[in-house]
Amino acid sequence: MEKLKNYIGGELVGPISKKHLNNFNPSTGKVYSLIPDSGKDDVAQAVQAAKTAFVSWAKKTKQERFRVLMNVVKNIEDSFELLVKAESFDTGKPEWLTRSVDIPRCSENIRFFATASLHFDSKLHDMDGGAINYTLKEPIGVVGAISPWNLPLYLLTWKIAPALAAGNTVVAKPSEITPYTAFLFSEICIKSGVPPGVINIVHGLGNLVGEEIVKHNSVSVISFTGGTKTGERIAGIAAKKFKKLSLELGGKNPNIIFSDTHLEKSVDWALKSSFLNQGQICLCGSRLFVEKKIYSDFKELFVKKTKSLVLGDPKKDNSFLGAVVSKEHMENILKKISEAKKLGGIILTGGKRRILSGNLRGGYFVEPTIIEGLGYLEKTNQEEIFGPVVCLIPFNSEDDVVKMANSTVYGLSASIFTENISRAHRVAAKIKSGVVWINSWLIRDLRIPFGGMKNSGLGREGGFDSLNFFTEQKNVCLKIDSEK
Ligand code: NAD
Repeated sequence: MEKLKNYIGGELVGPISKKHLNNFNPSTGKVYSLIPDSGKDDVAQAVQAAKTAFVSWAKKTKQERFRVLMNVVKNIEDSFELLVKAESFDTGKPEWLTRSVDIPRCSENIRFFATASLHFDSKLHDMDGGAINYTLKEPIGVVGAISPWNLPLYLLTWKIAPALAAGNTVVAKPSEITPYTAFLFSEICIKSGVPPGVINIVHGLGNLVGEEIVKHNSVSVISFTGGTKTGERIAGIAAKKFKKLSLELGGKNPNIIFSDTHLEKSVDWALKSSFLNQGQICLCGSRLFVEKKIYSDFKELFVKKTKSLVLGDPKKDNSFLGAVVSKEHMENILKKISEAKKLGGIILTGGKRRILSGNLRGGYFVEPTIIEGLGYLEKTNQEEIFGPVVCLIPFNSEDDVVKMANSTVYGLSASIFTENISRAHRVAAKIKSGVVWINSWLIRDLRIPFGGMKNSGLGREGGFDSLNFFTEQKNVCLKIDSEK
């Protein structure tokens, strides 16, 4: 069985403990590779390598760093099909999705931030009376990058790219549930001539490897994407050490459908936002608020189209949904569906595990599920499920729906469907979330500030916000003597 390795100081190495964890293929339920079960000492080695490499990487010119990063882009593109297949195999998501979203975004993240760093500038403030302030933006040091399983290499590169482009070095920890493409990425970095220690990837469990990265005194910056509970724990540790911290956390995002919407189009958007990636995108709309006047028409069409979605072999192009990421996650989703039923929720379609045939028999396939009949304050409509499960909730007025949409502890994203432009602006302004889409969902421009309000996160990533986060600003004030 293949044993994945850590990437430390430019080399692929096994864990010091020599212990490994199982890596499952979610669409078959079978173990297909082994992951390093790393610990404190592996992290210490990685941080030391990153610290050493920082001295010369930070001194390189922007153009030199740009060239190295663009080599990585080229090698990702050369390995495109390998990465597409590996990401699908490791996560259970359909190959068409890794081909159209995950892997193109990996190279795009790196290309985008390599280029952005060449355009990154700083401010100058001149003062009456003869003084000038100018701001230096300096690399900080070793960055800890911790990422989740839902978009594995996509989100890992979203952090690594700006951190490196800004002149820092990185110790990264991918999710132990989906480590494979991060391992392939290590090989790509070696092939691309990334100097040893500039990127280090340590595999293993979150409470061991992840937490050790957060605790380590030589890691000055933490960029974390994952669950809100984990974020809370990380914030508690990092705050005490005054580390720079960015948190991209969970969501319970509303889709708000007004009666003047284009029905067919809003149903199609709702299908994608509910079930793309098996509903395992932090931005998925898991609460569908539909104005009463069109509730039954919307429901009928939405249920009909959901029933026609193909749940099946991730290798087949017509499978809209593949497997969810792990047995544990599948059981958790099914538990939440059964809780919803106990609370009085009615399952309009789905609600069960689907057993497929042949070698997919043991796969973790969950039917796309629509629930109605639960109030907006019920647990099902307040807690993140992060699976192919969506609740339909009718509403009467604009004020009512804003109140219901804002009723959770989360504030990541929202979508509003209406043909009334004033209403769209009005409601967008009242929704407490970091991202609002109007008549759409998941249109992403890498320049925009991305992040959540309330328990969905801290700070913004994307564009120059990322480069600002990964640099330390220093103001220099120069007094100009007016006398010769
Ligand atoms: P998770 O919090 O369980 O794990 C995320 C990462 O943190 C993993 O690499 C894990 O090993 C590590 N980790 C776990 N415990 C840790 C600890 N004590 N210290 C340090 N690291 C630790 O999340 P997940 O289940 O992998 O991902 C799903 C969650 O991520 C969902 O809540 C989803 O909404 C969220 N998410 C948010 C965004 C966003 O941009 N806001 C994007 C994707 C996913």
